Amino acid sequence: MEFRIACIPGDGIGPEVTEQAVRVLKRIGEIYGHTFHFETLLAGGCAIDATGKSLPEETVTAAKAADAVLLGAVGGPKWDGMSGDTRPEAALLGLRKALGLFANLRPALLFEQLKGACPLKEELVSGGLDILVVRELTGGIYFGERGTKQTDMGLAAYDIEQYAEEEVRRIAVTAFEMAMKRNKIVTSVDKANVLESSRLWRRVVTEVSASYPEVTLNHMYVDNAAMQLVRNPKQFDVIVTANLFGDILSDEASMITGSIGMLPSASLAVGNFGMYEPVHGSAPDIAGKNLANPMASILSAAMMLRYSLGLSKEADAIENAIRAVLAEGWRMPDLLTEGTKEMGTKEAGDRILSKL
Ligand code: NAD
Repeated sequence: MEFRIACIPGDGIGPEVTEQAVRVLKRIGEIYGHTFHFETLLAGGCAIDATGKSLPEETVTAAKAADAVLLGAVGGPKWDGMSGDTRPEAALLGLRKALGLFANLRPALLFEQLKGACPLKEELVSGGLDILVVRELTGGIYFGERGTKQTDMGLAAYDIEQYAEEEVRRIAVTAFEMAMKRNKIVTSVDKANVLESSRLWRRVVTEVSASYPEVTLNHMYVDNAAMQLVRNPKQFDVIVTANLFGDILSDEASMITGSIGMLPSASLAVGNFGMYEPVHGSAPDIAGKNLANPMASILSAAMMLRYSLGLSKEADAIENAIRAVLAEGWRMPDLLTEGTKEMGTKEAGDRILSKL
């Protein structure tokens, strides 16, 4: 099969880690008989330097025309003095909006070989962990009406949490579709004992579940979910939740995996289109030193294969190659422990390629 990938390496370690992900994808193409056409595009600080804008129009046009987008990271000290929507990071919001990305997927995948990096007790995570947090990305309190008003208690500020049925329905469908490709359990997290918006959320998620009889649906209050994630994380498969709750729970879930250098993410639009990027930033402190862990970017590429391009077998091959490299004791500096062996960014790419 043939695919068009819009590649946005960005700033700092972005280009270094993206380069390794592209190498892995090319090799996957050779092995499984696919052709990936990569188009390299500007966004972030490098785009400001080259064009004066963090998100040039050509980047948006080309990204829309692609089958999927692979992003590195944007930002860095050079542009820190810039304000609000002129900053490199504004390109991320611009891309999310222009591409209609409403679902954020954050897997918390703890490789058995890295369980020592997990802050939880070993018995809680033995055998590894694999949780997928599906966060609504374009609605809720972050996008609701906001303002200030005078009250008899002084100045008051408010932000409104609001969800429409259709917004909940489409994120619920995304979560159930994901669960069908995984262990078929969806936990919908809300605060329906207090919030009207959560009661609507719960009703719509329950309605959607009727179309997925194979999937078990559990509802959980957000305070309990925060507790259960550290008490018994293995009970979760897919967690679906609103923007605000997802922001917090996805960080909590991902920290269970130990290192930011291992965390991929996806942001999906209606249909199969998506943007894939490591959770980490541009890490200016280690940029250009061959120290950046490329695995988050390579795992993002695997997510792209699985969720946008329908190539699950190829995605599994990448994840298994990473497992094999870790099993031999090779670690990037961010995960180095006694008895393990150090490798650099490019060498990590070489080793993963050799295991495909
Ligand atoms: P960061 O994620 O870039 O770095 C935090 C720490 O983690 C640093 O010590 C860094 O060296 C380390 N780290 C990050 N990725 C790593 C990797 N792959 N391998 C090994 N170590 C890694 O966060 P920050 O320092 O807060 O931000 C730096 C810049 O990145 C800022 O300009 C910020 O705005 C931007 N940023 C961009 C994105 C994005 O593009 N999606 C996300 C977060 C931050």
